[in-house]
Amino acid sequence: MIIDTHAHLGDVLFGKNITFKQNVTTRDHHNLLSLLEENDNVPFPGFLEMDPDTVSESILNEEQARNNTATLQNMQSSLDRNGIDKIWVLPILPTVGFEELLAASKLDERIVPFTGIDFALGEAAVDKMLRDAENGAGGLKVHPILQCRPMDDPLLLGALDAWKQTGKPVIFHTYAYEYYHPEEAYRNRPDYASNTKFVELAKQFPELTMIAAHAGGPFDFGEILEGKEVKNLYVDTSFQSEEVIRMFLREFGPERVLFGSDWPWGCQETPLRLVSKAADKDQRVLDLLFFENASRLMKGEN
Ligand SMILES: [Zn+2]
Repeated sequence: MIIDTHAHLGDVLFGKNITFKQNVTTRDHHNLLSLLEENDNVPFPGFLEMDPDTVSESILNEEQARNNTATLQNMQSSLDRNGIDKIWVLPILPTVGFEELLAASKLDERIVPFTGIDFALGEAAVDKMLRDAENGAGGLKVHPILQCRPMDDPLLLGALDAWKQTGKPVIFHTYAYEYYHPEEAYRNRPDYASNTKFVELAKQFPELTMIAAHAGGPFDFGEILEGKEVKNLYVDTSFQSEEVIRMFLREFGPERVLFGSDWPWGCQETPLRLVSKAADKDQRVLDLLFFENASRLMKGEN
């Protein structure tokens, strides 16, 4: 049994209607992101000597290309290929919302749709979100960068407070990342995703299961590791190396680490392989990361 706790459907960057399109193919071309993934998410020889702007441009181009392939059909192929039984699919409002993911879940029962906070609704966003929880949302996703909301936003804090009654997990994007080329940078706020502020937020809401997506990112994961005593703080493995996954297993314990890929932004093969390596063939650890932790959270226990 394998549960992937982090994936997307639909064009979360521009809102093009792609989820149910057929035969959208992935371009097969050389790019630095795929090379990094093949090299277990660690810099390969020569990587660190490359011009940082060239590196970011290559990775951003590839991420945008992958975003355009986030169709149900492509997700299904990846699930089949990798033997994945369930997948948490996360909306990012205003581009992709709960209804679209709920529809996908009716077509494939492996999909667990999450909901988000629709800030455009103002105060009514809270009722909408709670209604989604009753209608089958497995949890709540918040993306401070793409939703352009800081973590001390009053509506966000009110929504988190109300979400307690559902007993379901909350996933936040962590670490600053620029999702757009400079001419479109107005669409996002990388500065709103502070790892240290997220740890503080998790402390502020001890009743909520608070999951740091990407475990703080490839460079600043140490800021999330600092939160090891915050018992309601969890991480997923997307984009992390074997070494960093081992650090979280040691510091957080295997009960608070979740297998997650961020498909299609990350391919599923890489974290599958790296979680297996980091677990050192310990079946108990493998079971916890691949499905037991996620199943427990789905039942509203933490
Ligand atoms: Zn994601």
